[in-house]
Amino acid sequence: MNTDSSHTDTKPTVIIVGGGIIGCSAAYELGKAGFACTLIEKGALNQEASTAAAGMLGAQSETHQPGPYYELCRLSQQLYRAWTDELEQVSGLTAQYVAEGIVRAALTEEDEAELRGRLSWIRDAEWVQPAEMLKLEPELTPAVRGGLYLPADHHVHPVWLAKTLQAAIAKQGCAIREWTPVIRLLTEPGSGRIRGVQTSEGPLYADLVVLAAGAWSTALTEPLGLSLPIFPVKGQCISLKTEAPLIRSTVFTKGCYVVPKRDGSYIVGATQTESGFDKRSTAKVIGELHTKAAALLPRLADAEFVATWAGLRPGTRDALPFLGTWDAAPGLIFATGHYRNGILLAPATAQIVAELAQDRPTSADLTPFTPARVTVGTAA
Ligand code: FAD
Repeated sequence: MNTDSSHTDTKPTVIIVGGGIIGCSAAYELGKAGFACTLIEKGALNQEASTAAAGMLGAQSETHQPGPYYELCRLSQQLYRAWTDELEQVSGLTAQYVAEGIVRAALTEEDEAELRGRLSWIRDAEWVQPAEMLKLEPELTPAVRGGLYLPADHHVHPVWLAKTLQAAIAKQGCAIREWTPVIRLLTEPGSGRIRGVQTSEGPLYADLVVLAAGAWSTALTEPLGLSLPIFPVKGQCISLKTEAPLIRSTVFTKGCYVVPKRDGSYIVGATQTESGFDKRSTAKVIGELHTKAAALLPRLADAEFVATWAGLRPGTRDALPFLGTWDAAPGLIFATGHYRNGILLAPATAQIVAELAQDRPTSADLTPFTPARVTVGTAA
């Protein structure tokens, strides 16, 4: 194995650990910024959380309070359309962007109260009475109590977004090394500066390393004395089909959403359990998910079953990502722990990673996302 990850004598070099949406997005933005990138993946690219996702860009539907996390989600949502347009031009593929919003339907009194509470701070949202909601989406259960209409919460197809990104970074000349686990980060004795990575094939050196290893990130930071509280949160989904389209918007209620994809199928998701790195789909849970979907959209009761799958979200104790640098390990950029919103947060994360790599001011205040919050005990 060539131990020098430089492609040219002049370009600064960067190694990205993890070939999911976050690692691929970072590689794309760093490539644009003039870095020679090497992307290292323990398996094949985009076979973990990123292609198990539903692809919702749910800045409004996924946040429960105002603040820096909501602003980060908004920033990414606003970047999305232009970002996928650009990726599509570079790659010749489509991320299947759908500019339809989310109908956040309340089915219980408690759900209604929670959703109404968001109206005081959420942007791009309106309260819709039951009759209006049934006009928007006539196949919804008549038991709906109204809810939020979130017109800016669009979606992409994560599998196609992944293909688009992979093709774009390959065209840029990113060196992609699949089936090459990173065993540990290589530090300079004394300074603690990160100099590269030890892989299953040997060491590899670069000016910078980006940690984008999703739910597996903690194993790589622990030897540095930083125990990131990142853990796998399993999510199971099903895909269904009906003869004629049932909905235009994504329909979302507590514990269940139905996302209508361009090919006529629906992604129905998603469960949420902490059961280690187990990715099996289980009949009971899938059955329960289908029951919830049919309660929301009764005609899904006899829809055609297409597929089921599960993925591992990189969960964090405070539900915030780790984004930024850490003084004790210069040369390392953290881009991990995106939990339920890594597809949404990909363009903003990539932009911020490129800004950090170039020592430029970042597009968002990273204080709430700093890895150092672990060391002061606020995230554990
Ligand atoms: P991953 O895609 O898991 O990628 C990490 C990669 O790092 C993996 O490929 C892994 O093999 C690799 N890796 C790990 N360790 C090493 C190592 N030591 N050496 C080399 N490679 C390594 N988000 C949204 O925004 N919208 C949604 O609608 C949505 N729906 C979801 C539904 C489900 C069922 C699930 C499971 C997730 C959903 N998410 C959604 C969340 C989103 O999928 C994740 O936040 C996102 O995929 C995280 O991306 P990632 O690149 O960090 O992780």
